[in-house]
Amino acid sequence: MPDHSLILDGLDPEQSAAVTAPRGPVCVLAGAGTGKTRTITRRIAHMIETGQVSAGQVLAVTFTARAAGEMRGRLRSLGISGPGNTVQAQTFHAAAMRQLRYFWPQVFGNASWELMDNKFPIVSRAARRAGLDTTTETLRDLSSEIEWAKASLIGPEGYVQAVTTGHRDTPAPPAKVAAVYAGYEDAKVSEDGDRLLDFDDLLIYTTQILQTDPAIAEEFRLRYRSFVVDEYQDVTPVQQGLLDVWMGERDDLTVVGDANQTIYTFTGATPTYLLDFSRRFPEAAVVRLERDYRSTPQIVSLANDVIGAARGRIAGTRLKLVGQRPPGPAPEFAEYDDEPAEATAVAAAIKRLVNRGTPPAEIAILYRVNAQSENHEQALTEAGIPYQVRGGEAFFTRSEIRQAMRQLTQAAQRDDLPAEADVATLVRAVLAPLGLTDAEPEGAQAKARWESLRALEVLAGDLTAEHPDLTLRDLVAELSARAEARHPPTVQGVTLSSLHAAKGLEWDAVFLIGLTDGSLPINQAINNSPEAIEEERRLFYVGVTRAREHLHLSWALSRNEGGRKGRRRSRFVADLVPDDSPASIVAAPSKPRRGPTCRVCGTRLVGKTAALLGRCENCPSDLDEDLLVALKEWRRDQAKEQSVPAYVVFSDNTLVAIAEQRPS
Ligand code: ATP
Ligand code: MG
Repeated sequence: MPDHSLILDGLDPEQSAAVTAPRGPVCVLAGAGTGKTRTITRRIAHMIETGQVSAGQVLAVTFTARAAGEMRGRLRSLGISGPGNTVQAQTFHAAAMRQLRYFWPQVFGNASWELMDNKFPIVSRAARRAGLDTTTETLRDLSSEIEWAKASLIGPEGYVQAVTTGHRDTPAPPAKVAAVYAGYEDAKVSEDGDRLLDFDDLLIYTTQILQTDPAIAEEFRLRYRSFVVDEYQDVTPVQQGLLDVWMGERDDLTVVGDANQTIYTFTGATPTYLLDFSRRFPEAAVVRLERDYRSTPQIVSLANDVIGAARGRIAGTRLKLVGQRPPGPAPEFAEYDDEPAEATAVAAAIKRLVNRGTPPAEIAILYRVNAQSENHEQALTEAGIPYQVRGGEAFFTRSEIRQAMRQLTQAAQRDDLPAEADVATLVRAVLAPLGLTDAEPEGAQAKARWESLRALEVLAGDLTAEHPDLTLRDLVAELSARAEARHPPTVQGVTLSSLHAAKGLEWDAVFLIGLTDGSLPINQAINNSPEAIEEERRLFYVGVTRAREHLHLSWALSRNEGGRKGRRRSRFVADLVPDDSPASIVAAPSKPRRGPTCRVCGTRLVGKTAALLGRCENCPSDLDEDLLVALKEWRRDQAKEQSVPAYVVFSDNTLVAIAEQRPS
């Protein structure tokens, strides 16, 4: 039974108004940290508690599996959504897949379908036929372009016209892209009607089925009666189309969003549906929230400045946030000579926070592109701080995980699986031969591999706990969907995440790193259009508003130690901290000298011999004994200033040989 005392507890008057508004269209338009997600979960709870709907009749959708999981968690803690009568809180894709699986046989009979895990082979064949090159880069661009077109409800036949009128940059001449797109779509259907579906197809097929089959639409609409969408500013036309057929003639729809957090327009997302909501539903209850409960007033003020500087179309929807929390430390701006120095300083600052009691899980380092995590992973490792890289590339692209996914997919397709075995046992049986032994193995590599596989097992376990009737096939489909949506399992370390993947989340301390012109805004946006730059600014806003208490903004003037300092701080930072107020920039600590470190254990090396060897004395050297003796003699002779003719051979900055003759 829902706990009523909790449902309206801790809501401000506007949030309460949204929570208790009668069934029908409701739109919450509000800035970051104002409690939108809190409001919709409470609204769902309230509708159930007051008997307006049952839990099973509510379909709540968001855009990331993590956000959906969080919503389920909040609902559980409010005491609703139990076994047998669960609120479906899912991503659009997961919801569509579930429906498609259910309705498919009624529409397509015996023809089978399978979720595609990689578009490249098919796109590659189509590209070759269209006379295009098939480099990874081209295939990636073509695949994204097809994804954009499908999300925007543009078919191969309408593609050329759409991109021409929209002045869109295309990865190849439009007619060629259209040919690849058409070839790709054809190749997915076999002669006997079996189909390969990509992620957009899940949405497209489900929409078509509900649109064309009144009996199925009827069945669906009897089941689901109330719809809720979080982060509505990022809905794509294809998702909106699906939402429309879900709803039919009904209007029980609650949406919440913040146009200033629109960061996915490159995939076809558009805030238009959010901004036009009350035109579409003139009777809609529209609620605006202004109180920011997440961040200190200093961070709120900075966030207001970021959006205050915004230009263009979406900037018309300015909402001023009013901070509610007591003041905290001033946000810090710091400039470093190079990226390794920036990473070292950030790791040191994190260490100080952790020493003063902030749990690592409450700290995040956020960046524009995943490749920026590299230096920081290294610096955190050196500082002994646990971390996890969010954003899936790190996890699902690890070779052991790719291997595991392949094996799981194969296992799921076999029909001689032991009938009694549960999914967890099957998963274990697949992962064990890949290195998931019972005991944690020795050796860094085996251990890393073991940890990845173990994380996959834990993730699979969580999913089966959540959906007890899950089959291995469902599990594989869900894992593939996650790999695509990039969601690794959570660990209790410092979070390293791209700004995109950080949306909707919050941490006590946030380090926004790499704030140079070229990284944020990213060069592609600078070279593309003013709107593309505005999207980067919104990404910056998303980053700033993730912090509750500590916010640290930093950039480096060069990439490498001693490199050319050709970079400039981001124009977005310059908007906040004008050049004539250097006092507001916290002086970066002088660059720590990163002397040579042991290639095995990473400790700083003392002494020249150790530096030449690239090993500390505790770690095994791969130089042979003779070479070591020769090295010692050579150094001793040098010290005595005796001239011993010697050639010292380095490879990769490590000494590998000493010879009296110049080696050939
Ligand atoms: P975003 O735009 O980033 O998704 P949001 O508007 O969805 O943010 P929430 O995540 O729901 O905001 O809430 C932000 C924080 O403020 C959360 O920690 C939440 O618990 C807290 N919060 C929300 N409303 C209140 C309130 N009325 N009183 C106290 N804390 C609140
Ligand atoms: Mg939210």
